[in-house]
Amino acid sequence: MRAEPKKNAVRRRDALGLLATGVWVGACGGARSEAREGPAPDAGPGGSAGAGGGAGAGGGAGAGGGAGAGGTGAGGASGGSAGVAGDAGSCKLAPTAGCKLTSDNILGPYYKAGSPFRSDIADGAQGTPLVVRGVVYACDCVTPLANAVVDVWQANDSGAYDNTGYVLRGRMVTDAQGRYELHTILPGLYLNGSTYRPRHIHYKVSHPESASLTTQLYFEGDPWIESDPFVVSSLIRPLAAEGAGYGVDFDIVLG
Ligand code: FE
Repeated sequence: MRAEPKKNAVRRRDALGLLATGVWVGACGGARSEAREGPAPDAGPGGSAGAGGGAGAGGGAGAGGGAGAGGTGAGGASGGSAGVAGDAGSCKLAPTAGCKLTSDNILGPYYKAGSPFRSDIADGAQGTPLVVRGVVYACDCVTPLANAVVDVWQANDSGAYDNTGYVLRGRMVTDAQGRYELHTILPGLYLNGSTYRPRHIHYKVSHPESASLTTQLYFEGDPWIESDPFVVSSLIRPLAAEGAGYGVDFDIVLG
């Protein structure tokens, strides 16, 4: 009689090398199978991320968040260039070679203003622990922005958003070095039409002296990235094994 293989242990240990066969495939089994975000999940009205323009400081009330004067076009699905061209000319700081603003991305239908200020947004939600660390920079890519407001929201392990409360929602304020650190769980999958959206965390980032940004963080190795119409390649980051879960770095450059 053979012992059962310890699948979970293998997944943890091989976090980086086996993303395609471990975390991603394993977690798909727990994904919800019905659409729950309405007829066009994450697209929002017209698919635009920046319909209302900049949201201003203080946590981004309002529907806006387009990163650049040029806006995003249809749903930010046009690629990594969204926002970049428009912002390059508006930066008042000395240019830094190779500096690129963080691309914007769709807002989606589940943004909710007024999230509590906190760095641990799990709020009891069960799942694979995830820590996201990053620095918010000004448009020169080197000047850290203190007191930027980083507003995040995501689906739970089963792919559902909390639309009545604030589970897996929160705002953080960057410290003097522009840093933020988010403690959460790996977001679950949910259907967008006939395919799953890749795992993602939504961001709205604002600072009094910068253009507000609406974007999303995606994870390298996610098999649903390829078929998703909204992913921007510059927003994909690698997960690293950390503790019982994962860690990921996600710096943000505002225009
Ligand atoms: Fe979403």
